[in-house]
Amino acid sequence: MAEPRTADEVAARARRAADLPDLDGAISGCFACPRLVAWREEVARTKRAAFRDQEYWGRPVPGLGAPDARIAILGLAPAAHGGNRTGRIFTGDRSGDVLFAALHRAGLANQPTSVARDDGLTLRATRIFSAVRCAPPDNKPTPGERDTCAPWLHRELELIRPTLRVVVALGAFAWAAWWPALRAVYGVRPPSPRPVFGHGAHWSGTAVPELLGCYHVSQQNTFTGRLTPQMLDEVFTRAKQVAGVD
Ligand code: SF4
Repeated sequence: MAEPRTADEVAARARRAADLPDLDGAISGCFACPRLVAWREEVARTKRAAFRDQEYWGRPVPGLGAPDARIAILGLAPAAHGGNRTGRIFTGDRSGDVLFAALHRAGLANQPTSVARDDGLTLRATRIFSAVRCAPPDNKPTPGERDTCAPWLHRELELIRPTLRVVVALGAFAWAAWWPALRAVYGVRPPSPRPVFGHGAHWSGTAVPELLGCYHVSQQNTFTGRLTPQMLDEVFTRAKQVAGVD
C-alpha cells in the first residue's frame, strides 16, 4: 500500500488500519509533512556526536505498549535524538529516563529504563503515543502538521477504546490535542470553554476517558524541579485509581 504523502492520504490510511500493528506500520511509513520529513532525515544524517556510530531511525515513531491499555500517556512529539534515533517513543533520552522510572515505580513498566527497541521493555495496562509522530524542529509542530497527523492519534484511540479509561496529557500541547480526539473518536462535543491545562488538572465527561494533566517530562521541567519524581508518582497513582489498575 502506498505511503501517505498528503493529509487526505493520512486520514484514509488511518481509517483502514485494522489493528495496532497495522497502524504502527502505516505510521512508520508516513511522508505527509514535508518540513518534518526533511528535519527527521537531516537529524538522522547529521546525528549527535555521542551517537555518530548509530543508525538513526529517522522516521515517524508509532505508539508503544499494551493493546488492552486502560491508561494512555499522550506526549507532544518524538525527540530528535531520542525517539527519532531509536524508533521508540521516549526511548534513549532524558525525558524517557524520567518517565519510565516513574512508570516502573508505579508498576506499569517492567524496567525503569528505556534505551533501545530491543531492550526488553514491556508496559502493563498502558500505551504511550504522541500527538505528532515526527520529531519537529525546536519541538514545535505547526498547527497544520498537528492537524495532518491527528488521524493517526484518533485511530489509535479508537483501537484501544474498549479498555481505555484515562489519558494522561504530558504538557499543554497534548492537553489541547485531546479535544479534537473527543469529537473524532467518541462523537462527543468538547467542553466550551476548554478546561485549562495545569499539573494535576482533571477533566471528566460522560462515557469517555478521563483526562489528567501532567507537566511534560522534558529536561526544562525536570532539571529545574518544576516537575519532581513525587509529582509524577502522584499523577500515575491517580491514573491507576481512575483506570482501576492495581
Ligand atoms: S508528523 Fe504525522 S502526518 Fe506528518 S509526516 Fe510525520 S507521521 Fe506523517
